[in-house]
Amino acid sequence: MDEALNKAMLECCKNYAPEAECVFMDPKQCIFEECVKMNCFYCGRYGRNWRCPPNLPDIDYPKMFAEYDEGMFVYFTFDVTDTEKYDYYRNESSVVLHKTLLELEKWFYNHNRSTVISFGGGSCKLCKGGCGKERCNNPYLSRSPIEATGMNVLKTAAKFGINIEFPTDKKLMRLGLILWQNPIETLPGGVNV
Ligand code: SF4
Repeated sequence: MDEALNKAMLECCKNYAPEAECVFMDPKQCIFEECVKMNCFYCGRYGRNWRCPPNLPDIDYPKMFAEYDEGMFVYFTFDVTDTEKYDYYRNESSVVLHKTLLELEKWFYNHNRSTVISFGGGSCKLCKGGCGKERCNNPYLSRSPIEATGMNVLKTAAKFGINIEFPTDKKLMRLGLILWQNPIETLPGGVNV
């Protein structure tokens, strides 16, 4: 872990989204469970969003996550006691998180971590008018939710001290994840270490 680099990244996050909370995590400690896929299956977005199941690539996700060196949960907590605005918060909270994660991806890319990737909380809601009919309207900007990979988000986040509670009638937490690999160190002769 490069502490100076991580500090600079956190500053970038605070400048962009002061309300965001960040917790570093180890991608190798993620918990994947089959039952998560069943919950996805019964979601209203199943098969109706280009970045939700079953529209994800057939990847060994536990293996893929373990290939990243470092990770960070990014989350926002919204007060949703005003029931009239509940749907607004439900949508907007997802977009606020999504845009923050994209900003952080850009930061990592600009700091020599080009394989950086992020996952949102809940289905992608970038398009105000709903998902594209024939294909994704924003293939470079859309992101999948963490749970779409089969990760048990509650159990994994709890491992790193984040407590996600249900129901969400008073407090709505939107939690995403960003993963990155550190640069390859190369010796003067061109040998990687
Ligand atoms: S960017 Fe738009 S079309 Fe693509 S997954 Fe997100 S909401 Fe759907």
